[in-house]
Formats: sequence, structure tokens, C-alpha cells
Amino acid sequence: MADIGFIGLGNMGGPMAKNLVAAGHKVKGFDVGPLAVATAEAGGIASVDTAAAAARDVDVVFTMLPAGRHVSAVYLGEGGGEGVVAAARPGTVMIDSSTIDVASARSVHAAAAEAGHLMVDAPVSGGVAGAEAGTLTMMVGGADAAFAAAKPYLEIVGGKVVHAGGAGNGQVAKVCNNMILGISMIAISEAFTLGEKLGLDPKVLFDISSTASGSCWAMLNHNPVPGVVETAAANRDYKPGFATSMMHKDLQLAQAAAQQAGAATPLGAEAAALYTLFANAGNADLDYSAIIKLIAGKTA
Ligand code: NAD
Repeated sequence: MADIGFIGLGNMGGPMAKNLVAAGHKVKGFDVGPLAVATAEAGGIASVDTAAAAARDVDVVFTMLPAGRHVSAVYLGEGGGEGVVAAARPGTVMIDSSTIDVASARSVHAAAAEAGHLMVDAPVSGGVAGAEAGTLTMMVGGADAAFAAAKPYLEIVGGKVVHAGGAGNGQVAKVCNNMILGISMIAISEAFTLGEKLGLDPKVLFDISSTASGSCWAMLNHNPVPGVVETAAANRDYKPGFATSMMHKDLQLAQAAAQQAGAATPLGAEAAALYTLFANAGNADLDYSAIIKLIAGKTA
């Protein structure tokens, strides 16, 4: 069984670390938040005082942090303190599951590779429920050797593990997928709002479109109109689900990546702007499907 250091024991990282313990691994963890540490300790994770201490003398380091700046600070030691890359012994497997910008992911990869580590970026989809159940979809970027070394651990926290290519490609897959989702949700919101204004019952529109050429995953699973798809957040006052704040973050990341790559993403840009408006109007904690309120002119 392996020695594992886990840094970032929040809503996602906490249950992921617990699943590694349940699989028989010895896990030590670090988080800057006392509540996250206390919860992790109750789940069988030994706490240490710094990120470097979590990375020292282990076989594997996992990170599950909010954004690129946290990941850079933890791995490279930016902003003071020893970084994980310097503290770990050469050959350590490093798995960053945070959703971050592609540029930061690639610069951390380069530093880890130079120090002789085996790094992958492995952002996830599946939310807290998937983290708890160990069924996350893991989108993985990194060299073949790093992927092979990380795979047995990814398979504990995830249900589906896909190698998306070289360094940063896990993040690329994640932002591209979520850009499709964000744009789709806005398209669905516009169509259902237009239909309703013209006197078409949303359930009838769903009946037709769900098996016609306008159908898509978001319409079938996250329909934004209450009463249309029973399991959708729209039927729980838009309690997430997948929060607007998360969609907002992912669309911003997609825009940063598009600018860097010189890719034209006009609908992605529009979706990012609409989610910024909606989040800034006090809706960040609502499910992302609540964007239909903005489209329909029903925001407070
Ligand atoms: P969270 O805020 O609950 O957890 C992040 C943790 O990192 C916090 O406990 C925080 O204290 C800790 N942290 C911050 N800076 C740190 C540092 N320098 N050293 C150590 N710990 C530090 O967030 P989360 O919901 O667990 O999300 C984590 C990542 O997973 C994010 O990148 C998010 O976009 C992604 N994600 C989240 C979900 C979801 O449904 N929550 C789904 C998919 C992906």
C-alpha cells in the first residue's frame, strides 16, 4: 500500500482522500482551513502543518485546490514556504485534480518533470456526490509514464479515467466540455423562453425537441424550466447541482485558454459574459440552469 500526501481537503478533496484511506492507503493531509482538517482527521487522514510536509517521503501527492494561483503556490512555493516539487523525493507521482487554467497547469508540469517527478493534471467532473462515491470522471493530461503511474490511484477516486494527451490536456478537455455545456444551457433557456412567450407549453416543446434535432444532454438532464425534467435543479428552486459560480469559473478559464491559443470562441465569450452578469447579481450559489431567469427577464 502506498504513502499518499493530500493537499486541499475541501468539499471534493476531503471525500477523495477518504476513499484513498478506505482503499488501504496511508494518507497524510494538509489544508489551510481548520474545518477541512478536522473533517479529514475524522475520516482517518493524519494532518500535517505544511504542503511540503504532506509531500515529503510519499509515493503519491494529490492536490485539490480552488484555482491556478493556489496550485502554483503549493507546487512551486510561490509566496513563501517550500513547494511540493522541491520537498518530494524524485520520482514522486503528482496528481493535480483541481480545475485550473491550462497555462498554470503546464508550467507546474514543467517544474515537476524537471525535478524528476511523474505529474498528471486530472480535473474531474461528477461533483461532491461523485467524489463521495468514488465515481468521478477523470480527464488526465501527462506523459504516458506519468499516466501509467497515476492510473491505479485515479481509479480509486474515479469511475472513468481518460488519458486526454500530454501536459495540461486534462484541463483542456474540462474547459472545452464545460464551454459546450454553458453555451447549450443558454440556447435551451432562450428557446424555452421564446416558446413560452409565443404560447407553447414547455412540456410540449420538450416532448418534441428531446427527440428531435434540437435535443442535447443539458436539455435532457438539466432542463431549466420547472416541471419539465423531474430530477433537474429547476424543481428544487435551482439548488445546485452545478453552481453558477463553478460554471462562471470554467467559462472564464475557457476564455483565457482561447485567448492564449488564438482560438475564436464568440459564443463561449458571450456565455462567459452572461454568467458574469448573473453571478454578480447575487446568483452565484444557484444552479447554473437558473440562467434562464436572466434570459427571461425574471431576475430580482
Ligand atoms: P473547496 O473550496 O471546498 O476546497 C478547496 C480547499 O483548498 C479548501 O479546503 C481550502 O481551504 C484549500 N486550500 C486553499 N488554498 C490552499 C493552500 N494553499 N494549501 C492547502 N489548502 C488550500 O473547493 P472544492 O469544491 O473542493 O473544489 C476544488 C476544485 O475542484 C476546484 O478547482 C473546483 O473547480 C473543482 N471542482 C469542483 C466541483 C464541485 O462540485 N465542488 C466539481 C468539479 C470540479
